[in-house]
Amino acid sequence: MRLNNKVAIVTGGGRGIGEFTAKRFSQEGAKVVVADLNPEDVARVVGEITQAGGQAMPAVVDVTNRAMVDEMVATAVSTYGKIDILINNAGITADNTLLKMTEAEWDRVLNVNLKGVFHCGQAVAAVMVEKGGGVILNASSVVGIYGNFGQTNYAATKWGVIGMTKSWAKELGRKGIRVNAVAPGFILTPMTEKMPEKVLDMMKDKSPLKSLGYADDIASAYLYLASDEARFVTGTVLSVDGGLVL
Ligand code: NAP
Repeated sequence: MRLNNKVAIVTGGGRGIGEFTAKRFSQEGAKVVVADLNPEDVARVVGEITQAGGQAMPAVVDVTNRAMVDEMVATAVSTYGKIDILINNAGITADNTLLKMTEAEWDRVLNVNLKGVFHCGQAVAAVMVEKGGGVILNASSVVGIYGNFGQTNYAATKWGVIGMTKSWAKELGRKGIRVNAVAPGFILTPMTEKMPEKVLDMMKDKSPLKSLGYADDIASAYLYLASDEARFVTGTVLSVDGGLVL
């Protein structure tokens, strides 16, 4: 098993990519903190992991709320004794073209996708420094690298996540902490279900592999980067997008 006895927090672990990652990590021997907004999603994923013989604990948390993040981290440490891996996966969209985007849409997306990543990264890094190391993985996006029609706010945050990833890799490497980002292409999850079918078909057609991605494709990338196989990898952005933009 590639994550035997590791403790991992997965934000946005209640559905989509986060759910698949939490389950995959558990299958590889990790104890998983399933952190998400929706208590029913959290309970369902924790239940399914434990039913399959894994170990998991629920954390109903809004990553924009620092007090809730601090409580999640403290509870994870008191339950499992340490945190080895943070998957900063929680993220949202609120799409609009530049001329129509409201300040509220801008603020909402920045709050979750940037401030939430900052809160979790800072709170967990402090524990990792104390315990002597760890791995932080951040969710960027192909959209952060190349931009996208109607996603000013989202693209800004996903590019910002890359800046945070590289800064943290430089700051925390000497403390034994590796920090990387994953930039998914278009992955079939509840987030992309909101997109028009013709846009998804267009993305599929643009990809050299003529395929959209699945949540498990991203979970596999997180698994590699979280494992000791990636011991010499830090500060990088791994594109997992079927070659969408070449
Ligand atoms: P998803 O299906 O919408 O799942 C996101 C999860 O994050 C949901 O369970 C959501 O909870 C949770 N969440 C939202 N706001 C939160 C908050 N403030 N605190 C805690 N949890 C919160 O999204 P996904 O497609 O799996 O995407 C996961 C990550 O990958 C995101 O960061 C996304 O930007 C990135 N990504 C996705 C794609 C893609 O094609 N799907 C592509 C590139 C990057 P609720 O359900 O309760 O709202």
